[in-house]
Amino acid sequence: MVTTHSLGYPRIGAQRELKFALEAYWQGRLTEEELEITASDLRRRHWQDQQALDLVPAGDFSLYDQVLDMSETLGHLPERAGKPGGHKLDRYFRAARGRGANDDGCCGTQAGEMTKWFDTNYHYIVPEFHRNTEFGLDSTRILAQLDEAKKQGFRAKPVIIGPVTYLWLGKAKDGSDPLALLERLLPVYGELLDQLAEAGAEWVQVDEPALVTELDDRWRHAFSLAYHHLKAARPKLLLTTYFGQLRENLQLACELPVAGVHLDAVAARPEADRLADWLAPHKVLSLGVINGRNIWKTDLIATLDWLEPLHSRLGDRLWLAPSCSLLHVPVDLEREDKLDPEVRQWLCFARQKLRELATLAKALNHGRASVARELEDNRIAVHSRRRSPRTRNPAVREAISRITPQLGQRNTTFEARHKLQSKALPLPLFPTTTIGSFPQTGDIRQVRQQYRTGKLSKADYLTRIKQEIAHCIHEQESLGLDVLVHGEAERNDMVEYFGEQLDGYAFSRFGWVQSYGSRCVKPPILFGDITRPRAMTVDWIRYAQSLTDKPVKGMLTGPVTMLNWSFVRDDQPRAETCWQLALAIREEVQELERAGTRIIQIDEAALREGLPLRKSDWQDYLDWAIDAFRIAANGVDDTTQIHTHMCYSEFNDIIQAIARMDADVITIETSRSDMELLDAFQDFEYPNDIGPGVYDIHSPNVPEQAGIIALMEKAAERIPAQRLWVNPDCGLKTRQWHEVRPALRAMVAAARELRQRL
Ligand code: GLN
Ligand code: ZN
Repeated sequence: MVTTHSLGYPRIGAQRELKFALEAYWQGRLTEEELEITASDLRRRHWQDQQALDLVPAGDFSLYDQVLDMSETLGHLPERAGKPGGHKLDRYFRAARGRGANDDGCCGTQAGEMTKWFDTNYHYIVPEFHRNTEFGLDSTRILAQLDEAKKQGFRAKPVIIGPVTYLWLGKAKDGSDPLALLERLLPVYGELLDQLAEAGAEWVQVDEPALVTELDDRWRHAFSLAYHHLKAARPKLLLTTYFGQLRENLQLACELPVAGVHLDAVAARPEADRLADWLAPHKVLSLGVINGRNIWKTDLIATLDWLEPLHSRLGDRLWLAPSCSLLHVPVDLEREDKLDPEVRQWLCFARQKLRELATLAKALNHGRASVARELEDNRIAVHSRRRSPRTRNPAVREAISRITPQLGQRNTTFEARHKLQSKALPLPLFPTTTIGSFPQTGDIRQVRQQYRTGKLSKADYLTRIKQEIAHCIHEQESLGLDVLVHGEAERNDMVEYFGEQLDGYAFSRFGWVQSYGSRCVKPPILFGDITRPRAMTVDWIRYAQSLTDKPVKGMLTGPVTMLNWSFVRDDQPRAETCWQLALAIREEVQELERAGTRIIQIDEAALREGLPLRKSDWQDYLDWAIDAFRIAANGVDDTTQIHTHMCYSEFNDIIQAIARMDADVITIETSRSDMELLDAFQDFEYPNDIGPGVYDIHSPNVPEQAGIIALMEKAAERIPAQRLWVNPDCGLKTRQWHEVRPALRAMVAAARELRQRL
């Protein structure tokens, strides 16, 4: 019999119960007991959702983050979060979120650093190491969850992060070597495993996704060392990898002394056969056959065609699971009553994915006839998706086939364009601008909401947004900015706003996915060939421009960001989907240009997010992603100025790709880096204009003119002054007008003084 299990379940709740409970607890509206009731209630429901499985995960539920949980289990929360023995939950949340100086009348606590969980849009709290880091077991949380599952009658498999991946995920604050801590760490893991066995766990899922990344010999050796040490532990270990192929680590994974290996058979399907060949005959092979990263139905028949021979070879040694934890998908499709029915029948959220898994297992265990009905329903849905004119629009396919390198090429060089643009659009040295949004007051949000729910007529909505734009233009004029924006009052979100206006996108009502802590995102669903039925921003920009003699920047989201922040189709390469988006945005760019817009900004906030896990795969991604940007942006006259914007802290390793975008101006988030981010641009001799953010909009402090001048002087040491713009970091929409005004006033004054000095 095939064993079925899951690696983890979304914990936020189908109605984001955990989010609301957490936020209420943090605001003091909920007691610790009440929070715990919500949490245990969710766990119970989630296990019930998974009850058809042979093994359910335990300990995957987290109040904030599974890596932080592991840090707590290993007795390794940062010291600043408080002494062990104090209030446990407070200490945990302090490590996660920090604490403001005023909350407790004393010095504040810095929040833990957050970073992307592999190549997902989930963010974890980075473990902080130093030379003298000590560990000590605190198994309370995981033992309690295991016990809870058992009491409810479930056969549970505790989930932990493996020792090597745990070290790999962390950062040494003093520059020491995290691997040096392995020896100190392993006894704690040994003790943990023994306690889990004692508490009745037959299997423990040990997550080691670091195995799908490029590891040097020291890290590979650490794996051997760790698992030979843990060999003596009593429970059986399921070495669990996901998010990619094992490649050069495949043999290593096979040889480690564990009882079984889990492979992401969606991302690494071709490796399943080799694992089946190489794994010792007493080991279990768990195949992740249901995609845990997207929302599409699995083609069950094709999967069975592939699985049956493996099943004949492996027999009971074959386990089936989703490819990774279901944390990365929404909980339940059942509640989506507003989705287009055609699209809806192609989809599958966490609960539905587990049903697919059960069907596959039953087909293997009892023959396909035992699930004939399920297979037929699935076949019809899969077929409908494949054949639908909404997923295959001949005109779009034709346009894609006609893409040539010329399409992404400006007519002349940056230097030549620069001259033409300076003539067409005289701007002072150190031109001032902002990144696009201005404060989104409760009033604006309400206007959008009322329009959405039909409480406000279209005419009234247009009037209200226009008023807001007029206000925004007026404010910018009185501040004396050189290049204005319309302020983005009509946008709830930089991807959703465009997705809603493109054909090929669908939107769920409850499709929330945890991003970090209590924060969730609801990624749009990119299901079909992309077309742009009508202009998306032109009327707003034209209106804004009609109010002023200063140039107003058109404001768009780029194709790569649209792609990386959506659930995307799995029936064609990501590159192709990205190019379709690029063609649609290109039309918008050209229409803006025809409407008289002389400057157009195309944000690529998420370019970095799409980078593959392995550096050796980066170039391929960057090639097609940058091509997509070029297609979207570069179909304009020489006199039209293209801006782009990015908000990361690292440019060194992608600077060449950024240069290839050939945007006339790039604005970047820099203020917190003290302009050191510009080193990458300097070293590369980046040729085009740059606007480094001169103040951190996330801080409530109003920047001072002198500070901004000092920063710009630092910038000018790296980039010739003639090529520098002056702007804040992105995200003004999160602030209030009374904060934004003085800050921008100081910025404009600083730019004026800089001009005098030159
Ligand atoms: N134009 C957007 C803004 O200013 C850019 C947002 C972003 O960079 N994430 O808000
Ligand atoms: Zn940004």
